[in-house]
Amino acid sequence: MSDVRNVIIIGSGPAGYTAAVYAARAELRPLVFEGSITAGGALMNTTDVENFPGFPDGIMGPDLMDNMRKQAERFGAELVPEDVTEADLTKPVKEVVAGGETFYAHTVILSTGSGYRELGVPGEKELSGRGTSWCATCDGFFFRDQDIAVVGGGDTAMEEALFLTRFAKSVTVVHRRDELRASAIMAERAHANEKISFVWDTEVTEVLGEERVTGLKTYNNKTGESGTLEVTGLFVAIGHDPRVELFDKQIELDEEGYVKVDFPSTRTTLPGVFASGDVVDHEYRQAITAAGTGCSAALDAERHLAAMG
Ligand code: FAD
Repeated sequence: MSDVRNVIIIGSGPAGYTAAVYAARAELRPLVFEGSITAGGALMNTTDVENFPGFPDGIMGPDLMDNMRKQAERFGAELVPEDVTEADLTKPVKEVVAGGETFYAHTVILSTGSGYRELGVPGEKELSGRGTSWCATCDGFFFRDQDIAVVGGGDTAMEEALFLTRFAKSVTVVHRRDELRASAIMAERAHANEKISFVWDTEVTEVLGEERVTGLKTYNNKTGESGTLEVTGLFVAIGHDPRVELFDKQIELDEEGYVKVDFPSTRTTLPGVFASGDVVDHEYRQAITAAGTGCSAALDAERHLAAMG
């Protein structure tokens, strides 16, 4: 067997790069698989990030990720812009395949993130960060005094809608059914809020706008009528999926399909395998929380290696 690394990190979002900074500074020579198209993670798809501490004037998402990348590289992390295509994490020496080559390590940190579900309609991707968002906590502030729409009917959609009423002039919840899936208490709160209104049995078929969102094309699936909703913001809240396909047969997941860890550590159910960021967290899903658990994962890996002697 060729070189067995101390630690392999899969993923290059805030969790993966922070784990890389810590592991590199501990002289563990981490090997980081960044992903091919999506290197840098979710923040590569956004514009201003105003809530990452240390940047009083905010920072563009891609610039923040570039800084993290450079910081990891400066301390000797080896960064590889490849997707991991296979992994066997069950043995004491873990095997990870990327770019057709097999790599070996005593520990692996999983930081593969999660993907927001998309509507899959024209204009949605093109206007991401320009009026279309998947995160009210991140972007709600930019929609002060505006008319905005939230698509979805579950608890997350109601939470997003309620949070957005702090900033927006009005919030229209667009839902494809005629009743909410959300829990009774969340539905009640949303119904009681005078800034929130509902459009039922309706699907968004296009996000309109050139530079920024100017409206939504809609389709009523009961009446068959098409219409336009004039809003300057769209929050898509139809769920998200953790990226676990690589290892979901080997590792225990929680009831929502996220990696189960022995909280507050980042230990998974496999010895020597640690997980951090949005692939674990369906509660907070912020860059700073992902970075925080990335740090914990590197420290946990370091302790595991030290205990191996
Ligand atoms: P991610 O950032 O999703 O990174 C996952 C990484 O794993 C990617 O690099 C991907 O390439 C890699 N990967 C996955 N599978 C593989 C594989 N098989 N092989 C190799 N690599 C793989 N949060 C804030 O705090 N403030 C904001 O303003 C903010 N704005 C946001 C705006 C948008 C549009 C979005 C989508 C999210 C925003 N968030 C914001 C949330 C924040 O981006 C996430 O919480 C954070 O990026 C999660 O970090 P992570 O490292 O866990 O995962």
